[in-house]
Amino acid sequence: MSSILVTGGAGYIGSHMVKMLSQAGHEVVVFDNLSRGFRDAVIAGQLVEGDLRNATDIQSLFNGRSFDAVIHFAAFAYVGESVSAPREYYENNVTGTFNLLSGMLDAGVKQFVFSSTCATYGVPESNPITEDHPQQPINPYGYTKLVIERMLADFSQAYGMRSIALRYFNAAGCDPDGELGERHDPETHLIPLVLQEALRVLEGGDPADTRLEVFGDDFDTPDGTCVRDYIHVTDLCTAHMAALDRLASGAVAGTEAYNLGNGNGFSVREVIDACRRVTGVDIQYRVSDRRPGDPAALVGAADRAHDALDWRPVYSDLDVIIETAWRWMNKRFGPKQDG
Ligand code: UDP
Repeated sequence: MSSILVTGGAGYIGSHMVKMLSQAGHEVVVFDNLSRGFRDAVIAGQLVEGDLRNATDIQSLFNGRSFDAVIHFAAFAYVGESVSAPREYYENNVTGTFNLLSGMLDAGVKQFVFSSTCATYGVPESNPITEDHPQQPINPYGYTKLVIERMLADFSQAYGMRSIALRYFNAAGCDPDGELGERHDPETHLIPLVLQEALRVLEGGDPADTRLEVFGDDFDTPDGTCVRDYIHVTDLCTAHMAALDRLASGAVAGTEAYNLGNGNGFSVREVIDACRRVTGVDIQYRVSDRRPGDPAALVGAADRAHDALDWRPVYSDLDVIIETAWRWMNKRFGPKQDG
């Protein structure tokens, strides 16, 4: 059993991670300011409310507690918002992570797993993308994550911090037990929005009044809509478990980075078709303008994670990923729900 600090453990991926860690017998402390996360999503471990931007919150977090490792999810993660509010993104993501790493060094905690992103690659030269692809982000969100990767390299070199950066492709799906789900406010992600449209129709809405927009159908892809690599949240969490094991084994000398994706791309239209199959609902959509900053295709090559982390996605079938999301959404928001 280890003692693990999970920042952002009240958020989408973090809350799933906390459940998995505690089921594996680890002692978990969640540090979260609840600005984007939810208190009731922390179903295990101890919740410490605090803000990474506040150095005294971090001091009191480490005071009297000892951790074997830190998994760092807490961050702002909307591409569009990062373009209009870069100040907040650099402050929360970069300064917040700097404060966390400083607190770790002061407390002698030297194992770190970091939520990075395929947004650090920018527009890919080709797909699938390997970890050696140049990292040239096209938005502030991607830059904040890239700066942190750089910080990790420097901190490992100078202070012996050992870290693994996991570059997620499109996190999707929900806890297969239906206990936890994807909750964002506002929701901007494709799969929850398509499923919300299905719920609206099931509740008696007219399919023709659809609220679902497809952002562009003139991309250079087989059906003209964007292609993304959807990776199930549970698979992301098993990769973090493997990263913790790798750090604990002493195999990581400095900092390492791994792509986490399925290696398969699905277009926006294919996602909508899969949601129709899973829900049985006639989901309609309108095609609107491209969303700024959307590359045509982003597909990850995860061979490095397969080899070094001995990790393979289990929920690689798109319909299965969507089924898990649909089960949770139905339970939480569906017509059969009481209150
Ligand atoms: N998308 C869309 N309509 C929406 C939300 C998303 O067409 O209402 C598209 C978006 O342009 C992208 C894909 O769906 O090509 C996945 O978007 P999402 O926001 O889920 O994840 P991202 O790829 O931005 O991380």
